[in-house]
Amino acid sequence: MLGNMMQDQLLISGILEHAIQTNPNTEIVSHTIEGSIHRYSILESSKRAKKLANALKKLGIKEGDILGTMALNGYRHYELYFGISGTGSILHTLNPRLFPEQVEYIVNHAEDKFLFIDLPFLPLIESVSDNIQNVEGFIILCDKESMPSDSKLKNLMCYEELIDNESDEFQWPELDENTASSLCYTSGTTGNPKGVLYSHRSTILHAWYACAANAMNVSSTTVILPVVPMFHVNAWGIPYAVAMFGAKLVLPGPHTSGEAITKLVQSEKVTNLMGVPTVWLDLLNYTRENNISLDTVNSVLVGGSAAPRAMIKEFQEKHDAFLLHGWGMTEMSPLGTLNAYNSDMQGMDLEERYDIQTSQGKAIYGCQIKIVDDEGKTLPNDGESFGRLMVKGAGIIERYFKSDETALENGWFDTGDVSTISIDGYMRIVDRSKDVIKTGGEWISSIDLENSAVGHPGVSEACVVGVLHPKWDERPIMFVVKNNQEDCDKGSIIEYLSDKVAKWWLPDDIIFVDELPHGATGKLLKTGLREEYKNHLMK
Ligand code: AMP
Repeated sequence: MLGNMMQDQLLISGILEHAIQTNPNTEIVSHTIEGSIHRYSILESSKRAKKLANALKKLGIKEGDILGTMALNGYRHYELYFGISGTGSILHTLNPRLFPEQVEYIVNHAEDKFLFIDLPFLPLIESVSDNIQNVEGFIILCDKESMPSDSKLKNLMCYEELIDNESDEFQWPELDENTASSLCYTSGTTGNPKGVLYSHRSTILHAWYACAANAMNVSSTTVILPVVPMFHVNAWGIPYAVAMFGAKLVLPGPHTSGEAITKLVQSEKVTNLMGVPTVWLDLLNYTRENNISLDTVNSVLVGGSAAPRAMIKEFQEKHDAFLLHGWGMTEMSPLGTLNAYNSDMQGMDLEERYDIQTSQGKAIYGCQIKIVDDEGKTLPNDGESFGRLMVKGAGIIERYFKSDETALENGWFDTGDVSTISIDGYMRIVDRSKDVIKTGGEWISSIDLENSAVGHPGVSEACVVGVLHPKWDERPIMFVVKNNQEDCDKGSIIEYLSDKVAKWWLPDDIIFVDELPHGATGKLLKTGLREEYKNHLMK
């Protein structure tokens, strides 16, 4: 027997209307590309999203049309999130850190009809414009005065002019909640990037469960500053969560240095920060050097790569901020597990708690997790067995964009990560399955070695890859960026690691470099290093 309740559709326009009714005065603050601070309310933002929706109609945009954006975290991008998806067209966020060939491939594959571009990315789009024939027009996210006069792009429009004379009233269409709402391509470290097409339903459910008290704990008293970009996985769902729960949103634009973030945190009284670990290294360096404590911040969500223990400790002890370690991926909207403060941690010794916080945490409600062996047999949650990490849930991909094949294995999605799960549910990423180092039949986690190394006072960043070895098949070598604050040489790093990892895990060589290669989403790019140093130990 079926229940007798309404089938009310979960729509992105619905959360905007909810925000207008419940938290119209909540602020959205943007540090603009030009350097000024822009400030307005959710109500003003939604009026402009409606003007945009009217303008899209005039441009001939229909439900299902895909519209690309190449933009940073700023208020106009926020309006696009709602104006585009609300009308039933699809917001396709493009990552400006991709190579031009990848941008070209993605725009063509998605068949973007229009592109909305932040001014600094105009040269990148111009460089591929001859090869992206589907695009009918380009809209620059700026006012009339800032419009370029000499662009080679055809049908160039100004965003402010486009929406200026439109009505700020718009009747949102009553879409099916399974209608596609946004599209994001995977970072594609191997092969072509693949599209993940989110729906209104998956987006809303994800924002909802990711913000629960046991997860990100977002409410109308939260002031969120996402450094995590709005061009990648919908900024972890934050733009939607802000509308849903009335949190104040602070958008840093291109100003993500330690100094700029510190100033914004102080002026806007930010309570929650979100971003990948590399951003926080810079923030911690700046606050340490200038003896600043970020007093208003109480939580720092770190994901995308593993959060080092030293970072967890420094945020807690210098800033009284809890590092909320999360894990997920583009295919998961993205959040799957979070290491939130929970009852297990009450009264726990801090050092013991930091150890637990280095794990990626417990599955959030909405995402089931399990580990399996190569044959697909489920492995025990004993904290020791490790295997392929599989996920299932309403925010998780079923098939890639334009693919007829399921991306699932017996109803579960293989994340490509290898992990353990403890008896009380803590998931710990051991490695990407392609990065784990297989030495003499045993496995070494490159992530564990990297995390241990950054605890050394002279190390800023570390990267470990497996390279060929005549006896052991593969052995780890480590690349280190020094922080130039403390002495640091090979011997001292090996000595430092000796009581933190098993002896046979110690890297066979340590190579000092000025910087490490990062991909378009801030992750270490190991493929190039692995290739270049393949024979390093074979000589
Ligand atoms: P992306 O789809 O670009 O967001 O990348 C997802 C991948 O990033 C995951 O499959 C993991 O390999 C990695 N990742 C994300 N969060 C973490 C984390 N907290 N610790 C370690 N790896 C992570």
